[in-house]
Amino acid sequence: MIFESLAEKLQNTFKKLRGHGRLSAEDVNAAMRDIRMALLEADVNFKVVKSFVAKIKERAIGANILESLTPAQAVIKIVNEELTELMGGTVSRINIAANPPTIIMMVGLQGAGKTTSVGKLGTMLKKQGKHPLFVAADVYRPAAVKQLQVIGKQLDIPVFSMAEGSNPVTIAEKSLEHAHSHANDVVIIDTAGRLHINEELMQELKFIKDNVHPHEILLVVDAMTGQDAVNVAESFNADLGLDGVVLTKMDGDARGGAALSVKAVTGCPIKFVGTGEKLDALEPFYPDRMASRILDMGDVLSLIEKAQETFDADEAKKMEKALRKNQFTLDDFLNQMQQVKKLGSLDKILGMLPGMGGLKKKLGDVDMDLKNNKELAHIEAIIKAMTPAERSNTNIINGSRRKRIAAGSGTRVQDINKLLKQFAEMKKMMKKMTGAKGKKGLKGFPK
Ligand code: GDP
Repeated sequence: MIFESLAEKLQNTFKKLRGHGRLSAEDVNAAMRDIRMALLEADVNFKVVKSFVAKIKERAIGANILESLTPAQAVIKIVNEELTELMGGTVSRINIAANPPTIIMMVGLQGAGKTTSVGKLGTMLKKQGKHPLFVAADVYRPAAVKQLQVIGKQLDIPVFSMAEGSNPVTIAEKSLEHAHSHANDVVIIDTAGRLHINEELMQELKFIKDNVHPHEILLVVDAMTGQDAVNVAESFNADLGLDGVVLTKMDGDARGGAALSVKAVTGCPIKFVGTGEKLDALEPFYPDRMASRILDMGDVLSLIEKAQETFDADEAKKMEKALRKNQFTLDDFLNQMQQVKKLGSLDKILGMLPGMGGLKKKLGDVDMDLKNNKELAHIEAIIKAMTPAERSNTNIINGSRRKRIAAGSGTRVQDINKLLKQFAEMKKMMKKMTGAKGKKGLKGFPK
C-alpha cells in the first residue's frame, strides 16, 4: 500500500510518545525530528516538510500539550488535523456546468494513466446517472484513439473521433456539437500527452482550452513518480491553470510524497485517486480519510461506503430477518459470502480498519484476494453440491451424504465436516447475539 512505510514510521513515533506518560519538551522535540525524517523519506517536498513540522510544533506549544492528561493523544490529533489540511482539508468535487454539457479536459504526460482515467471518470459519472461522451483528441498516437474506443465500447459510452490528421481543436469543438445533438451531459476530452513537457504541447492544450472553455481541467499524474509528479503539476498549472489533479497508481508502493505535496506546492487539490488498472478503480480523494489511514486511525467511512455500494440492500434485509428468526441456512451463508467477495481484497478492507496495519503484516501470506480466494471457492463448491433440503437443514447430512457432497464438489469428507462444524458454531454464536440476552442489543451498539 502507498504510505506504508510513512505510516509505520509515524505510528512508531507515536508509540514511543505513548510509552512516556507525561512528556518532556525533549520528548516532543524528538518526535518532531522523527516526523520530519519520516516525511522526507516519504519523498515529501522539503519546503512542505519544513513548514508542516513548524506548524505542528507551534500548535503543540500553543495547546500546552505538556500539561494535558494525554499528551501523546494531543500530538496525534494535531498531526492528523495538519495532515488533513496539507492534503486540501475537505474533498473537492468537479465543477458541474449549470447548462450541460459539462466539459472536462484531461491533460497529462504519456503513461501517467490519462486515457484509463478518462474511462474511470466515465464509469463514475455514468453510475451517477450522467450520459458522458468521450472525445479522442490525441491525434499523434493512433493507438490512443483505438485505446479510448476500446474503453468506450467496454463501458457502453460513445466516443467522438475524427479522421486521422484532424486538428485537435476542431475535434474538441465538433464534439460539443455532437454532445448537444445527442444529449450527452458530460464531455470528457482525452488530450495528447508527451514524454516531457514541451512548448508545443502546452500551446496545443491552450488552444483547446481557449476554444472550448472547459469547466474543469484535470491533470493526471502518476503517484509513483513522486516529486516529479509535483513538478509536472506546477508547470501545467502555471501554463494552463488547473482545477484539480487525478493521482494515479495509488495502489502501488509509492512513498506518498506526491499525495502530500501537490496541494501545498501548487494550490491545486487532488480530486481523485486511481487505485488499480480496472475501470472502476477511481475514488474521490478525501484528505481527512487519507490522514486517518496514514495514522492507522482507520477509514471506516470509506469501508461503509464501499459496503453500501457493494451489498444488495434487499439481500441484507432478508439476511437480518433470517438471523432474527434463527433460520439462517447454508444458502444464506453462501449468499453472504458472495456479497463479501464482491468487496475485492481483504488487504484493502484491513487497510481501512483502525489499528489493523500491524495485523496485516502478521497475516503474511494469507490469500488477500477475495474474488479468487481458493478457500472461499471450496466452500462455495461444497454448498452448491448440496441439495436444497440439505442446505436448509444441515442435520440430515449423514455419512453417505457427506461422501456424495465431497465427490460432487471435488473436495474431501474432512472439508465437509470442517465446514459443517464452522457453520454450527457460527449459528450458535448468532443465537447468542440475537437470543434472549441479545434482545437488549449488543453492548455499545444501538438497536
Ligand atoms: P496515458 O498515456 O496517460 O493515457 O496512460 P494510460 O491510460 O494508457 O495508462 C498507462 C498504464 O498505467 C496502463 O497500463 C494503465 O493500465 C496503468 N494505470 C493507469 N491508472 C492506473 C492506476 O490507478 N493503477 C495502476 N496500477 N495502473 C494504472
